[in-house]
Amino acid sequence: MSLRTLTAACHCKSINFTITILAELFPLKVHICHCSVCRRTHGTPCIFHAPLPDGVAPQFIVPSNMSMLTSYNHAESMGTRHFCSTCGCHVGDLGHDDGNWVISTAIFTEPNHNLWEMRSHTFTKSSSDGGLSAILSHIDGRQLDVFNPDLLTDNNNSEHGQKDAEAESKKLLAKCHCGGVSFSISRPRPDFIASPRSKGWILPQDPNKWLAVLDICDDCRLVDGSNVIAWMFVPTDHISPHPGDLIIGSSKSYKSSEGVLRTFCGTCGATVFYSCADRPGIVDVAVGILRAEGVMVEDWALWRTGRMTSAADGLKYDPAFGKALIEGFKLWGEQRGMPEDFILP
Ligand SMILES: [Zn+2]
Ligand SMILES: [Zn+2]
Ligand SMILES: [Zn+2]
Repeated sequence: MSLRTLTAACHCKSINFTITILAELFPLKVHICHCSVCRRTHGTPCIFHAPLPDGVAPQFIVPSNMSMLTSYNHAESMGTRHFCSTCGCHVGDLGHDDGNWVISTAIFTEPNHNLWEMRSHTFTKSSSDGGLSAILSHIDGRQLDVFNPDLLTDNNNSEHGQKDAEAESKKLLAKCHCGGVSFSISRPRPDFIASPRSKGWILPQDPNKWLAVLDICDDCRLVDGSNVIAWMFVPTDHISPHPGDLIIGSSKSYKSSEGVLRTFCGTCGATVFYSCADRPGIVDVAVGILRAEGVMVEDWALWRTGRMTSAADGLKYDPAFGKALIEGFKLWGEQRGMPEDFILP
């Protein structure tokens, strides 16, 4: 029996471990979860998890150890979620009943060549639009299963519920799963639209909406622990409370490279903001924490669907997934009249 060892590391590298698995068990089955807990603890439209075989657990490489992870539990959790305390990268869940790990497939050093097989979408009914399941129906010509366990009713995407629809159309709530980070976003104001500041950040096609992208760069993947992340670009003066130093509530910050500051919730691990020094006054908001109808917040966002951010990184890490996502996103955008391309200032 031959064994195969994979190495994982978060962006800041304080989490660093191996897993060793019987070679014959590869590729490991991956499910893409769209439930509200996964979206709001990661800040992403969905997450990518693979159950590890019985008894397989991360073997930490010294000086890395479990104490460098923050754990998160909530009322319905069946496993404890773990993320890096320094950079916020999610590594996976440790099951309460069976003591088995479900691991994030985004944090490994080896590209996906027959290591992981994305098999199914789960909890796609958690939102009205099915999120990325409507974009990623096939990988390599193979159709992904859709699985909606009726065990849990997970249909609380819109926080506003019965509330005033007019109020909902003016303000968009952003809130991580634990609620420690919470703020609201307003639509582009007339003074902003009229000012030169707005150039490149709104489109004549619909000046009431903010611009958004899917991003498969290595940094986002390793800071979040998800194979894809979604960002919406918002001026900080359209965010309340104003995120002066980007710290709101239970946020923690992490400098992922020179001039780039990211924040995540220090309690539940949700990615919140990305900012970089060369575009002051604008932040990228993690779409997974937005509380609107639909994961893709189409009432608020114009998506750049003809060009994936950092496609080369994603295509290198997981060629089949990257290709399927790029093609699916383009098609999804064409069906909706989304802008094929725009260049950010
Ligand atoms: Zn880290
Ligand atoms: Zn989930
Ligand atoms: Zn939180």
